[in-house]
Amino acid sequence: MQDCIFCKIARGEIPAEIVYQDETVVAFKDIRPQAPVHILIIPREHIPTWNDNVDHVVVPMWQVVRKLANDMGMAESGYRVVANCNRDGGQEVFHIHLHLLGKRPLKWPPG
Ligand code: 5GP
Ligand code: ZN
Repeated sequence: MQDCIFCKIARGEIPAEIVYQDETVVAFKDIRPQAPVHILIIPREHIPTWNDNVDHVVVPMWQVVRKLANDMGMAESGYRVVANCNRDGGQEVFHIHLHLLGKRPLKWPPG
């Protein structure tokens, strides 16, 4: 998608602090971090919402969640993964992403 901000990050057209990438998935730091660790994990493919066909990217995305949680030393202490869908879910960027949050205690429910 030409105008999608996350597609541009995946293509390297706008800067982001990329922490992991492979042929399917890119992970980079959120520009407005809500925790000491706040990483966004996206597929390179432009998929607007979780209502779309996401099956082929879910496993690769979750493999990156698990790898980053391990590499960053959060596997034991814990972390949160968030997927927002559409208006009531609080989705702002319409290219699916997982938020990986950690390194502080997170309240539940989030509100
Ligand atoms: P959503 O509400 O769609 O689930 O979350 C979108 C997230 O993307 C927000 O946490 C926001 O801070 C982050 N974000 C929006 N624009 C940019 C950007 O240009 N660069 C980075 N690194 N993060 C962004
Ligand atoms: Zn996109």
